[in-house]
Amino acid sequence: MKESIILALLQNTSILLAFAMLYENFWIKDNKERSLLTKIIIGFVLSGIGVVIIFSTWQWVPGIVFDTRSVMISIAGLFFGTIPTVILIVVTSLVRFFMGGGGQWMGIAVIVSSGTIGLLWRYFRPNWKDGKYKWELLAMGIAVHLAMACCTLFLPPEKTWVTLEKIAFPLAFVYTPATLLLGILMINQYRNAENRQAQLRLKESEKRFMQILESGNIVSIILKPNGTIKYCNNYLLEITGYTYKEVMDKNWFNLFIPPELKADLYEMFLINNNTEHFINNNQYQILTKSGEKLYFSWYNTFLISDTNESSGIASIGVNITESKNYEKTLRDKNRKIAIQNEEYKLINKKLQEAKEKAEESERLKSAFLANMSHEIRTPMNGILGFADLLREQNLTGQEQEQYLNIIEKSGRRMLNIINDIISISKIEAGLMTLSIQESNINTQMNYIYTFFTPEVAQKNLQFTCHSDVSAERATIYTDKEKVYAILTNLVKNAIKYTEKGFIEFGVKDKNDTFEFYVKDSGIGIPKDKLKDIFERFIQAERIDQTINQGAGLGLSITKAFVEMMGGTISVQSEIGKGSCFTFTIPREIQNQPIPYLEINSKKDRIAPDPSSHKTTKIIIAEDDDSSLKYLTLILKKRGYEVFSVSSGAEAVELVTQIKDIDIALLDIQMPIMDGYEASKLIRSLNSTITIIAQTAFVHENDKTLMLHQYFDDYLSKPVKPTDLFQIIDKYLPQNVN
Ligand code: ADP
Repeated sequence: MKESIILALLQNTSILLAFAMLYENFWIKDNKERSLLTKIIIGFVLSGIGVVIIFSTWQWVPGIVFDTRSVMISIAGLFFGTIPTVILIVVTSLVRFFMGGGGQWMGIAVIVSSGTIGLLWRYFRPNWKDGKYKWELLAMGIAVHLAMACCTLFLPPEKTWVTLEKIAFPLAFVYTPATLLLGILMINQYRNAENRQAQLRLKESEKRFMQILESGNIVSIILKPNGTIKYCNNYLLEITGYTYKEVMDKNWFNLFIPPELKADLYEMFLINNNTEHFINNNQYQILTKSGEKLYFSWYNTFLISDTNESSGIASIGVNITESKNYEKTLRDKNRKIAIQNEEYKLINKKLQEAKEKAEESERLKSAFLANMSHEIRTPMNGILGFADLLREQNLTGQEQEQYLNIIEKSGRRMLNIINDIISISKIEAGLMTLSIQESNINTQMNYIYTFFTPEVAQKNLQFTCHSDVSAERATIYTDKEKVYAILTNLVKNAIKYTEKGFIEFGVKDKNDTFEFYVKDSGIGIPKDKLKDIFERFIQAERIDQTINQGAGLGLSITKAFVEMMGGTISVQSEIGKGSCFTFTIPREIQNQPIPYLEINSKKDRIAPDPSSHKTTKIIIAEDDDSSLKYLTLILKKRGYEVFSVSSGAEAVELVTQIKDIDIALLDIQMPIMDGYEASKLIRSLNSTITIIAQTAFVHENDKTLMLHQYFDDYLSKPVKPTDLFQIIDKYLPQNVN
C-alpha cells in the first residue's frame, strides 16, 4: 500500500517535472508571440499530462484518492495562458466525467477551479513575477486549495465532511507547498531561459557592435579611468602604424596626444570622468607613430559601473584630417582672396584718387591757363595799346608821360606774373634753395611798413605794424629775401582784398621761433576755400570775381617759402569781417644755404666799359626781332662790333665769312636751325669762339647739358644787360683793361 503511494508520488513528481520541461523547452524557448496552433497543440499536450496525472492517483486516506491535478492545472493557468489552459480544463474534465464514480463532480470542480484561479492570477496580477513572487505563488496555492476544499461540496452530502477532514492536512501542507515549489521551478526556468536569450541577444549585439567598430574609417577606443587603453580597433592601428601590443595597456594621452594638447585634454577627461552619464563631442589631433598629426572628431561617453563609479571612457573618432586640410586650404585661399581684395580695393581707391586728381588737375589747369592768359593779356594789351598810341603825333608831353607810365606799370605787372610762374616752377622742380644770412627782423618790418604806407593811405585804411622782438634778439639767421617775399605778398593781398577798416601786421618773439601775422578787415575767405587757397593751381580759381589782379600763385609760393624755412602757415577768416594770416619761422635756420637761381636777384653789377672792348666781335642769333634789336643796341652801346642774324643757319654762314668772331650769342629755339645744331657747326668752324646760349629753360639738367655738350655758358631769358656783360667779361678777360 505504502509502496504504491511512493510510486504514485514519484510518478506525479516526474509528470510535474515533465510539465516544467515542456514549459521551458517548448513554451518559453523563444520569447516570440506564439501562434494559435502552437497554443492549441500545447493545450493538448498539457491535457495529455493532465490525464496522466488523473490516472496516477494514490490513496493516502482510505476511500479518498489523491493526485496533483490542482497543482499542475493552476500552474498551467498561471504560466501558459488562456487557450492551452482552457483546452486542458475541458479535456481533463471530460476524462474525469467519463471516469464517473462518487467523486466525479468534485474532480471536475477541482479541475475547473484550479485552472480558473491560475488564469485569474495571471491576468489580474500580471506583475506577479517581479519582486516577491514566492509570496504570490504561495497565495495562489492557498487560494487554489481552499477552492479545492470547497469542491467537497460536490460530493454526496454524507461524504463531504468526512472527506474534508481527511484532505485538510494534505491540502495545507502538501499541495499548497507543492504549488509553491512547482511555481518556483517554473519561474527559475523562465528566468534561465530569459537570461540565456538575453545573453544571446547581448552576444549578437556585441558582435554587431564590433562589426560596426571594425568597419569603416572610424576609430574606437575604450580607456580606463586613468587613460590606459583597454580596447582599440584595427583602424586606429592601421592609420597610426602601431601594433596591437604597442598600444594595449599604454596611456592614451602619452602615446597619441600631441604634447601641446596633452594638459588640456587630460584635465578635461579627468574632470569629466566623475560626471554621471557624461557624453561630449570634441575635436582634437592624434599623433601617428611617425609623428604625423591626424585630425579627429570625437564622440566620448564616460562609462559608469553598476556601483555608479567611473569605469573609463569609450570614444569613437571620425577621421576628418582630409576635410580639415581642405578647410585649411580653403581658409588660406579665402585669406589670400581677402588680401587680394584689399589690394584691389586699395588699387581701386588709388586709381579713383588718381582719376579724381587727374580730373581736378585738368580742371585746375584749364582754370589756371584761363587765368594766366587773362593775367598776361591784360598788361600786354596795356603795353601794346599805349605803345601804339605813343606813335601818334601831336601828343603833349603830359600824355606821353602818362602813356609811358601805363606801359611801365603793365610791364611790372607782367614781370610779377612771370616771376611768380618761375618761382612756382622752381619750387616744383626742387630748384628753389635757401640763401641764409644775418637779417634784422625789425628793420625788415619797418621797411615793409614804410614801403606800403603810401599804397594803404591811398585806400584810406588804417595801417599799423607791431613787433615785440627786442633789439638784441632782432638779428636772426634766415633767408632774408624769402621772409621779405612772404610778408610783402601777405600785406599786398591784405591791401588788395580790403576796402575799409584796417591792416595790421606784426611779429611775436616765441623763443625759438618768430610768429608773424598779417590781419585785415577785408572781404574774408569762404570757409570751404580756406584750405584750398594755399594749394598750387587751386588759388588760380578766382574766389572773388570782382578783384581782377593776381594770378593766384602768391599764397602757394608763400607757403612753399615758409615750409622751406621749417615754418608753418595758417589762416583764419570770416566772410565780410576779414582775415588773419599767421606764419612761423625758426630764429635760426641750421641748413647751410645753397645759392639759388633767381631771375631778379641783384648781383653785383660790373659797370660796362666800352673803351676796353672795341675789337670784340659778337654774333647775336635770335628770331624775335625786338629782342634782337634790343640786344644789338645795348651791345653796340658798350662798343662791341655786333652782327645780328635771325636764325642759326645765318649765324653759321657768318662764322664761315668772318673768322675772328669772339662770341656767339645763340637763341636755343630758332626756326630752320636751332641753337644746338648751330653751336655744333660754329664750333667746327671756329674752335676758339665762346658760344653762349639764351634760353627760357631754367632747369638744372638743361644747363648741364648745354654747358657740357654745346655751349660755354648760358643766359636766362629775358636777358638783362648786367648779366650779359658779366658773362662777356668772364669769357673775354683779356679785353678788360
Ligand atoms: P591772388 O593773386 O589771387 O591774390 P593768392 O595766392 O595771393 O592769389 O591768393 C589766393 C586767393 O586767396 C585770392 O585769390 C583770394 O581770393 C584769397 N585771399 C588771399 N589773401 C586774402 C585776404 N587777405 N583777404 C581775402 N582773400 C584773400
